[in-house]
Amino acid sequence: MSGKPSMLAPRNAYGPHGSCVLLKHGEIFLKGRNRHRFTERLHDNLRLALRGIGGSTWIKTAQNVTVLGGQVPQEALLERARRVIGFNSVEPAVRVPSDLDAITATAVDALDGTRHGISFAVRTKRRDKQFPLTSSQVDAHIGARVLARVPWLRVDLARPDVTLAVEIDRRETYLSWERLPGLSGLPVGCSGRALVLLSGGYDSPVAAHRAMRRGLVCDFVHFNGAPYTDPSSVYKAYALARELNRYQPPGSLHVIALGKAQKRLAVAGAGRLQVVAQRRLMVRTASALATRTGAEALVTGDSLGQVASQTLANLVAVDDAAALPVLRPLIGWEKQEIIDEARSIGTAEISVLPDEDCCRLLAPPRVSTRAELPQLRAVERRMDLAEVIEGLLGGAQVMRPGDDAALPDRTAQCSAPVPVLI
Ligand code: ATP
Ligand code: MG
Repeated sequence: MSGKPSMLAPRNAYGPHGSCVLLKHGEIFLKGRNRHRFTERLHDNLRLALRGIGGSTWIKTAQNVTVLGGQVPQEALLERARRVIGFNSVEPAVRVPSDLDAITATAVDALDGTRHGISFAVRTKRRDKQFPLTSSQVDAHIGARVLARVPWLRVDLARPDVTLAVEIDRRETYLSWERLPGLSGLPVGCSGRALVLLSGGYDSPVAAHRAMRRGLVCDFVHFNGAPYTDPSSVYKAYALARELNRYQPPGSLHVIALGKAQKRLAVAGAGRLQVVAQRRLMVRTASALATRTGAEALVTGDSLGQVASQTLANLVAVDDAAALPVLRPLIGWEKQEIIDEARSIGTAEISVLPDEDCCRLLAPPRVSTRAELPQLRAVERRMDLAEVIEGLLGGAQVMRPGDDAALPDRTAQCSAPVPVLI
């Protein structure tokens, strides 16, 4: 996730005041009167992401921008900030006093030493309208000084190789010439809490990440086939939840052994409905669990028609068993889009690992694509669902993957100690 190397080799990267990071706010600038609440949440999440960074840090807000600095390397600040959902862009910057000479000297120093033939443009924004020069006057002033000192550069206002952004506040001015994309979205937590049905595949972790980007804090529930499968899927779910927790205030992972209940569904005659009946049991159990975790919705990685269990009729049959709304952020996504996104958020390399997935246990050779509710209900009536669900919840194991992720540096993905489950 580290940024691409700068095209420039600024001689004065730390400037008289030092380096900092500019974080441009995402959608919260649309939030009108509530903006204050969203910004507070964003900053709480940023502070959490900075925990354990190894030195003191500070956060300052200007209009639609957060400035981040501290007694730690700029690279470390960038790495942490780029994981915080709610910033459109993350820019390494230098801060100087809001004084034309200081600003110009830093700008000239920054562009000195760049390669021959590079084109540049200066773009000034004044948040302090008291500053004696207008934005375009500052642009022209700095541009002329840069050319005088570094005559092999060219000005290109339309398509510059390098854009030097100058943002003037009342006391301090920030100069930046590199813009890394942020994760955008809404600050995690401002939309409430959800419970994600997390399998070991590509889809559900991406769905969780999308839910977080719409402001939901996520807890996770994973069903494994114990005692009839090995714990490999639990190891994956743990590693996935830990990776996902790097983007949010850490959520908990609940692991539930579904094997015996799956067998009861088979004995009750689920047949070709086995997979959908299992999914119904999962959402029923997750709905009950949600009352304990405080979740107001469930999240799954379903994408319409991707596999036989995800036809519209089958999704409707699953919804019928859920006591909470089931959110499906990936409903219209292509598989390749999901895999690409999984790569970019760091879950793909975990999802690709082999596991013994509980859904394959007792799966019929041909899954019904048109599950009929009366048949499903008839199967379910042959067992005591309330008792089964109580048993499943009673045996649930709770973990908080990566709570040590005050240090969210990537460690070996699946080698972290996971409690022994079976
Ligand atoms: P994924 O890649 O997320 O595993 P999938 O393409 O394999 O999805 P299904 O196996 O049909 O699709 O699962 C659909 C959704 O049901 C998953 O995205 C997940 O939200 C939920 N789900 C499936 N299996 C489990 C499980 N073992 N534990 C928790 N949730 C599950
Ligand atoms: Mg799956």
